Amino acid sequence: MKVIVKELQPDIFWVYTPSYYNCTYILKKGTDVVLIDAGMRSDASDIKGALERIGIPVKRITAVILTHWHNDHSAGTAVLKELSGCKTFCHIDEADYFQKKPGSRLRRLADFIPERGILVLFKGLIGDVVPRRVTIDHLVSDGDVILQDLEVIKTPGHTNGHIAIYDRSTAFLFAGDALAVIHQRLRLMAGPVTPDKENARASIMKLLSGRMISSICPGHREPLVTNVEAEIARFRNEILHLKRWPLLG
Ligand SMILES: [Zn+2]
Ligand SMILES: [Zn+2]
Repeated sequence: MKVIVKELQPDIFWVYTPSYYNCTYILKKGTDVVLIDAGMRSDASDIKGALERIGIPVKRITAVILTHWHNDHSAGTAVLKELSGCKTFCHIDEADYFQKKPGSRLRRLADFIPERGILVLFKGLIGDVVPRRVTIDHLVSDGDVILQDLEVIKTPGHTNGHIAIYDRSTAFLFAGDALAVIHQRLRLMAGPVTPDKENARASIMKLLSGRMISSICPGHREPLVTNVEAEIARFRNEILHLKRWPLLG
């Protein structure tokens, strides 16, 4: 599986799997190595390969922050935790999903259906995916500041206990699947993977209000790095006037 690794700015790395449009982020913070999500391979080969390319031994990972429980963001957690002894973080409302038994074969099939593009319709039909079990060390809540300067922002809609992370030291916003970025434009996640549209909309407004943001790093596609301020203003306006949630986001 092809994986692209790019340093967005010193000590912030974007790990991208083009086949699934999937993003994981690696942050070096002093002696800490923090992952925002854990990749989509249950053997963690995608993240292990990315770490090797940027010269960080796997055992140096100190924390994995999980934006939500979907397998395409959390699959590598168990193995990475085993190899590094890192601490895991998720929202208190999301924790139960990580402890569930692996799902049925049909549900496991949904692991391999992208959350974007036309196939998303099938993912909506098949329903949610149960990931492999993960032990969560720290349950977080909205407004918590963890690992010195990472602010937890609860953003329900895509899942109940979905969180975004705002890095106060760099003004990077790691948005998980609260929104998407395509060709440097902010976009909604597709309708079938947004079960609670009212909250999803409120979450986006909350994320994009009252913070200086230098870059938005979503769970799929690409980070927003150009014309960030203007694009946020445009998207906020779009959300304010949204009449119907677009099927494909
Ligand atoms: Zn998701
Ligand atoms: Zn996703």
